[in-house]
Amino acid sequence: MARLTGRDERDGARIIDLLLHVPHGLIDRTRMPLIRDLPREGIVTVRATVGRHMPPPPHNRRIPWRVEVFDDTGTLTLVFFHAWPDHIRKLLPEGEERFISGRVEWFGGRPQIAHPDHVVPAEDFAALPKLEPVYPLTAGVSNRLLVKVVRQATERLPVLPEWLDPDHVKQQGWPSFTEALRRLHVPQAAEDIEQDSPVRRRLAYDELLSNQLALALVRRHMRAVSGRPLAAVGRLRERILGALPFSLTDSQRQAVEEIIADMARPERMLRLLQGDVGSGKTVVALLAMVTAAESGAQAALMAPSDILVRQHYATIRPLAEAAGLKCVLLTGRDKGRGREEILQAIGSGEADLVIGTHALFQEKVAFRDLALAVVDEQHRFGVHQRLALQSKGRHVDLLVMTATPIPRTLALTLYGDMDVTRLVGKPAGRQPVKTSVMPMERLGEILEHLRAAVERGARAYWICPLVEESDRADIASAEERHAALMQALPGRVGLVHGRMKGEARDAVMTDFREGRISVLVATTVVEVGVDVPEATIMIIEDAHRFGLAQLHQLRGRVGRGDRPSACLLLYRDPLTQVARERLRIMRETEDGFVIAEADLKLRGAGELLGARQSGLPRFRMADLALHGELLAMARDDAELVMLRDPELATPRGEALRRLLHLFERQEAIRLLAAG
Ligand code: ADP
Ligand code: MG
Repeated sequence: MARLTGRDERDGARIIDLLLHVPHGLIDRTRMPLIRDLPREGIVTVRATVGRHMPPPPHNRRIPWRVEVFDDTGTLTLVFFHAWPDHIRKLLPEGEERFISGRVEWFGGRPQIAHPDHVVPAEDFAALPKLEPVYPLTAGVSNRLLVKVVRQATERLPVLPEWLDPDHVKQQGWPSFTEALRRLHVPQAAEDIEQDSPVRRRLAYDELLSNQLALALVRRHMRAVSGRPLAAVGRLRERILGALPFSLTDSQRQAVEEIIADMARPERMLRLLQGDVGSGKTVVALLAMVTAAESGAQAALMAPSDILVRQHYATIRPLAEAAGLKCVLLTGRDKGRGREEILQAIGSGEADLVIGTHALFQEKVAFRDLALAVVDEQHRFGVHQRLALQSKGRHVDLLVMTATPIPRTLALTLYGDMDVTRLVGKPAGRQPVKTSVMPMERLGEILEHLRAAVERGARAYWICPLVEESDRADIASAEERHAALMQALPGRVGLVHGRMKGEARDAVMTDFREGRISVLVATTVVEVGVDVPEATIMIIEDAHRFGLAQLHQLRGRVGRGDRPSACLLLYRDPLTQVARERLRIMRETEDGFVIAEADLKLRGAGELLGARQSGLPRFRMADLALHGELLAMARDDAELVMLRDPELATPRGEALRRLLHLFERQEAIRLLAAG
């Protein structure tokens, strides 16, 4: 076991990591098609006689060496670039029979294989495995080498005690973990490595169970650190409600009640507030914050961008003041004296509510008595940042908000450790956003319409695309678009992008908010959270380059008031199949959950939120689009374990600890060790 999961001092690799490297294909030597019957694509094995060699003309290294091989039904060409003549003539002697495997391709109706994986005579062929996994490769490692090394690793696999419930394993018809790994890498039948085979499902389940068990352990630990009851009669809440220009929706009212009841409990709150874009989460958070303040403590709201915290500050401060509370803003931009004063207000407790960016969890920031931390757009922050903010006080209650619609399956893997409050629907009076999809060629016409709309008083966003991940190129394209629009609408167009100085960006945002300019050209800096209810037109250039979640977020910037809104998705041909599908979905639905489910299918879970930003666990064995129902099962299983054996002390518990090690759930293991 130690050898299996122990890290190699030099490179940190573990044997088990090799075994968790999942093959994505298979060379099947049991089936040998005739050349006439070769498939359109895929890895094939052919038995053929070697024919003509066609070397390239001398001194022309760009033309490959070709060799024809044939059987009774046709001819196949083998292609070698930069071939060594001696080597290739020895490998493929004219007139002799060879077994050849490799990836077949077709050119002008003729099959060919470039650089076959194997070219062997009959006697050697018999020694090759009949089924050979094909792995995703990193540069410098051949599949052949990987097959060999992984095979050796499977031979060293110890027998591990079963960590699953034996009845469950039997009922599902699953092999043991070691048997499953062996069959994954040394398959007995082609089905073994297919996604929904018992082998793959068993391994996926193990991985999901380790994830759910780890989350359950973290959750138990968080709860054990007791919270503090935050109760308030609601005097300040009433004042805020009185100062709001609208009344809460039923869903908002219910959400507030749920959150306040949770805060009043002595356990620490860990709650996710999930609501589609524009559903009105901010005011719910504000009411929770005010409740903390009324009980004599402080509350903080953290958001991921400068634009967003300024917007929150602008909405919240007047309301807080109406309730007699002091609200301060802290961002990375505050320097010198100003910053000292803000820190002073936070440290002395003079500030009841604190709004800020990442700057909030820097060491210098000390609260007098932080009781509630609200994290907006949670997926932009990693788990450790969330914990850093929480450590700013004793027993801090945590409320995280997300506008990114997360499908149930994903929410479980991310937030298995949290309670969830959902905002359903949108405030009354909202009209659907009319979405159209158009080719860039119609730009002239679109500009005409935009100009007419602006003359009638409309406000519009114009989003410029990301260009090859270089923000310099993004900005260049945004600047160019800005200049072109200025020609059409002199004096009515502003530009914001990520590289602008904070003050300059604020000024443009304010101009747009207050209607001094009508069109805001922007890169995706306005993607998340921006709220200008008067804006009713969203134009997204090169919409085919954006992911679904991003398009949904961007479109969510309009349709926030009671006027009808429109969203225009501009694309350039040629469109990929996936891009076409995305645009179709956007046109058909505004339902964030439907969009998120579709996104999950089209892109795979890892990319859904941008794995890097989200702190999303990356699964090696499980594919959430395929194994979603296993996840729900794993969650129930983990819950049962926590109920019966929370210390993982029984024999099954011991085995489960191993599972946590195998899948590197370090945090959970540490918590277990700490007792
Ligand atoms: P999100 O959930 O996307 O963060 P916001 O909190 O920014 O949404 O709210 C979107 C807009 O809806 C804001 O302009 C807000 O003032 C408004 N709003 C929130 N609740 C209501 C309500 N109950 N009735 C009318 N408008 C509301
Ligand atoms: Mg928001």
